[in-house]
Amino acid sequence: MKAIRADLLDFVDTPVWADPSSAGVRWRPDHWLLIGDDGRIAGVQPGHQPPGPGWTCEDHRGRLLLPGFIDTHVHSAQLEVIASYGTELLDWLHRYTFPSERAFADPELAAAGAARFLDALLAHGTTSAVVFPTVHKVSADALFTAAHARGMRIIAGKVLMDRHAPDGLRDDVAQAERDCIDLIQRWHGKGRSRYAVTVRFAPTSTPAQLAMAGALLRADPSLHMQTHVAENRAEVRWVRELFPEARSYLDVYARVGLLHRRGVLAHGIWLEEDDLPVLRDSGAHIAFCPGSNLFLGSGLLDWPALTDAGVGLSVASDVGGGTSLSMQRTLAAGYQVQALAGRRLTAWSALHAATLGAAQALQLEDEVGRLEPGLVADLCLWDWAAGSVDARRQQVAQNLHEKVFAWMMLSDERHLASAWVAGRRLYDRAFSRATT
Ligand SMILES: [Zn+2]
Repeated sequence: MKAIRADLLDFVDTPVWADPSSAGVRWRPDHWLLIGDDGRIAGVQPGHQPPGPGWTCEDHRGRLLLPGFIDTHVHSAQLEVIASYGTELLDWLHRYTFPSERAFADPELAAAGAARFLDALLAHGTTSAVVFPTVHKVSADALFTAAHARGMRIIAGKVLMDRHAPDGLRDDVAQAERDCIDLIQRWHGKGRSRYAVTVRFAPTSTPAQLAMAGALLRADPSLHMQTHVAENRAEVRWVRELFPEARSYLDVYARVGLLHRRGVLAHGIWLEEDDLPVLRDSGAHIAFCPGSNLFLGSGLLDWPALTDAGVGLSVASDVGGGTSLSMQRTLAAGYQVQALAGRRLTAWSALHAATLGAAQALQLEDEVGRLEPGLVADLCLWDWAAGSVDARRQQVAQNLHEKVFAWMMLSDERHLASAWVAGRRLYDRAFSRATT
């Protein structure tokens, strides 16, 4: 039984857009958070009430304790192409991404890549993620195996792509269906692993493969779904040519039953207005990937247009399109994307979308996303500052939103002191390596 003393910040409700004084944030400075032997949060109490005997206490007064971040869209096989120069989406896939993903057909490389990826997530303060491995069954298997060993909440699935991809990166409908069923049987619901039916995006699957993916979801509604939608204008034009019968890009997925209540659709920048009620009614949500959208020049997502229409929204790094696994850097990019469109993203809306908001969108709010007794102790301990500039900025901040907003804009993985997954410390900066 462990107890951690720090400043606790989490959310109990959805913050109001553009309102820094919004309710919804829960701020408990100088509190103890208690972790039971079952890896769950056992209680929270004020700093002046120390836990009794039997608790191993760590005093981190003056540090910030948050729920572990949830990255709802990230590619485990793209760490090696992060920050690749000079292209938009479709060229980027062919020039950088596809060659890198091909290596994950090799079981040893896939295992090493999965371990490197998950340890990097933890070292950036992300304890749960929705992940694209590659088309190769072995890459999904390696990712689930590595996540299971760490006790991490990972949602993933073998990528489906049976056309418009180079040799070594295509499956076919029958083999892909067998691979999915086998992976679902082995991993869906094992420990904290869950399976997501994973269509890369409409152009790389034939209509027959899309139909197969929809049938998998109908057969087991407890599955998740992940894909990309309406990221880039050239991509949207291509989808219109490939699927002339569909009303819109989103409709390609709707027609085959891929809009699933546990569905995550990355980007959604260039959706049609008629798509929003369809998305809302399906329960699927959009993963906003601002770092990637800026880097690849894809466009500026209209956040409040989605949420005003009742569509769920989370925030995601989309590495390797994004240039950092850090959720603070991602949220800072999110602020900049909204600012370019004349809108203002508060620290509350941003951090909520990376914790409780994401958990709700994934229907995991009874497990992760808050510092609440009974939830799994997936936690990150952060420094408020890592250098003289952000230290001074913290000293002069006048109120909580100013303080947290400055932290969000100026911090990154250098500010992470420790990360716990289900109560086990898996990252500690003092060692800069995985510990238990
Ligand atoms: Zn992506």
